[in-house]
Amino acid sequence: MLIVMKANATAHEIDAVVEVIQAIGFRAHPLPGPTRTAIGITGNEGVIDSRRFEDLPGVAEVIRVTKPYKLITLDLRPEKTIVRVGNAAIGDGELAIIAGPCAIENREQAFAVAEAVRQSGARFFRGGVWKPRTSPYTFQGLGEKGWEIMAEIREAFGLKIVTEAVDESNIDLIEQYGDVIQIGARNMQNFSLLKRAGRSKLPVLLKRGMAATLEEWLLAAEYIMAEGNYNVILCERGVRTFAQHTRNTLDLASVPAIRRISHLPVIVDPSHGTGSAYMVTPLARAGVAVGADGLMVEVHNHPELALSDGVQALTPPEYAQLIEEVRAIHKLMSSPS
Ligand code: PEP
Ligand code: MN
Repeated sequence: MLIVMKANATAHEIDAVVEVIQAIGFRAHPLPGPTRTAIGITGNEGVIDSRRFEDLPGVAEVIRVTKPYKLITLDLRPEKTIVRVGNAAIGDGELAIIAGPCAIENREQAFAVAEAVRQSGARFFRGGVWKPRTSPYTFQGLGEKGWEIMAEIREAFGLKIVTEAVDESNIDLIEQYGDVIQIGARNMQNFSLLKRAGRSKLPVLLKRGMAATLEEWLLAAEYIMAEGNYNVILCERGVRTFAQHTRNTLDLASVPAIRRISHLPVIVDPSHGTGSAYMVTPLARAGVAVGADGLMVEVHNHPELALSDGVQALTPPEYAQLIEEVRAIHKLMSSPS
């Protein structure tokens, strides 16, 4: 159920509705928007009688939500969510670029890539310190040692740090030293991890699981939001299909499909979405053209020596060229026709 407050409802009236929701054992999620506040109700304690709310002061409308989602929907928030990360943002109309190596390998590598990322005008630096690898015998990331390098990069380059949490304890460290918690494809339905991220104050970048339907992906976002964290960014990174010419099939149709349902920002990852460096730029262009709020791109100063995902990494010059092209496309799309 969702309660739409009148445009002129007072803070006191909103609080009073929240109190009634809590008193009957549910959780209230007031989401203020430019035109009105709507209050989402979550919990699995049974049905609620809408008449309890209809006559409360300030209430405009009580809507029964028949879809499985309650908080990600445009019904709750008709305006797009802008996720702010300090002085940077995702979903504000600018093209957000999150770039960096697959994994932080050493100081020299991370600094060389961070320099290329800063020069491109991107605001976000990505890099795994814990890597969820398919094989236990491949590089698993530097772990906590990687944070010394990340902390230096954050300080020296002023870039916002995006890194993946592979378990709940990782989130404690990201909260101390990082800016955005990434939940990877392999953990999209790790519900305890999603709930922990939902209790964090940091934004969460939620990648699509490699075999997840749109509904499963959006319900994973609901898990985070149901805990009170509304700063979720969705990231399309491709799904597994019968195709053998790519690592994953980048499902760009998910971008307009999400737009039709949700207020959350959505970005595209053409690196994991294709698995080959030569396909990254063409699919990045397509991702921007289809209306994504941003891109996540893997860059390495020596792809041939990379400890993970070298085959899909762009060199700094290739990355600079990509940025030039996608910015041109984005500009064209944002200009009034
Ligand atoms: C990554 O971003 O390096 C990564 C492991 O991505 P995904 O979870 O999409 O496979
Ligand atoms: Mn990777």
